[in-house]
Amino acid sequence: MQTMKETKTPMPKKRESLSVIIPIYNEEETIPLLYERLAAVLKNLALASEIVFVNDGSRDRSLALLKELASKDKRLRIIDLARNFGHQIAISAGIDHASGNAVVLMDGDLQDPPEMIATFIKKWKEGFEVVYAVRKKRKENLLKRSGYVIFYRLLRKISSVEIPLDSGDFSLMDRRIVDTLRAMPERNRFIRGIRSWVGFRQCGIEYERDRRYAGEVKYTFAKLLRLATDGIFAFSYLPLRVATYLGLTVAATSFLLAVFYFIEKIVSGIDTKGWASTMIIILFLGGVQLLTIGIMGEYVGRIYDEVKQRPLYIVNEKIGWRKQTV
Ligand code: UDP
Ligand code: MG
Repeated sequence: MQTMKETKTPMPKKRESLSVIIPIYNEEETIPLLYERLAAVLKNLALASEIVFVNDGSRDRSLALLKELASKDKRLRIIDLARNFGHQIAISAGIDHASGNAVVLMDGDLQDPPEMIATFIKKWKEGFEVVYAVRKKRKENLLKRSGYVIFYRLLRKISSVEIPLDSGDFSLMDRRIVDTLRAMPERNRFIRGIRSWVGFRQCGIEYERDRRYAGEVKYTFAKLLRLATDGIFAFSYLPLRVATYLGLTVAATSFLLAVFYFIEKIVSGIDTKGWASTMIIILFLGGVQLLTIGIMGEYVGRIYDEVKQRPLYIVNEKIGWRKQTV
């Protein structure tokens, strides 16, 4: 069912243990089936495994359900964050705490089929450090689908790192990658981007992304926009260059216009008049200036986030950890 995109020659692996990281934000309807399907997959894998649920400030019964499962299954670990920190941060918390040689990231709404993990492991055993899923089809509304299509293509065009098209966070990463990611303390995290940035041997596997099993989508439009801008500003300087180009264009145009009006005055003696033209130029310049300040602001804001050095997330409680990790 899958086709492969491979880079570089793989090498065989030695020791094996698996951590599956799942961020959970109000997913009470999905958790029972998610656990059931995942447990079935892990059973067939025959590797030591743990499931790390990161509760990202859920307000429903998600945490209670997770605790109940953890009391029965010793492989379950829960990190309960102090509030909702957002998907990318929740995943980062999971990455910090996972102990497996291989770490799988997947969503908690069953859009990422757990059965794919078997294929991930196969490619990992062949020697790939990163195995990521590539969406062949999305079962979402047209607006969202086209948004995604445009965003990934734009990002590919302007980014300084090659980020594979239509690949999300659903992936397996080798310990080497995980340790590298952990050593990257950036605050505005676009994990699928830094995962590509790290390099090593990466392999994409196509799949059809299922519909969310139950409940509302948890990524609001504002959160999606934030993710998209994080992706763009963290991986491209192009917006800053656009500011420069805009400045140059405006300066060149105004110079040419000045020459034109000067010559017109000399040749035909007509004074250039017009309230409209003056207003348009003022507004245009004002617009360009605000735009470029805004672009700079995006970068400055991100620099400010880095400089503050706040912790990425605050843990309220950890459940199911045998001994204190990290
Ligand atoms: N999620 C989270 N924190 C958030 C938003 C989402 O942990 O602030 C989790 C959510 O529970 C789900 C995953 O992230 O497991 C993906 O969210 P969702 O399905 O809403 O987004 P999609 O990627 O499908 O648009
Ligand atoms: Mg989803």
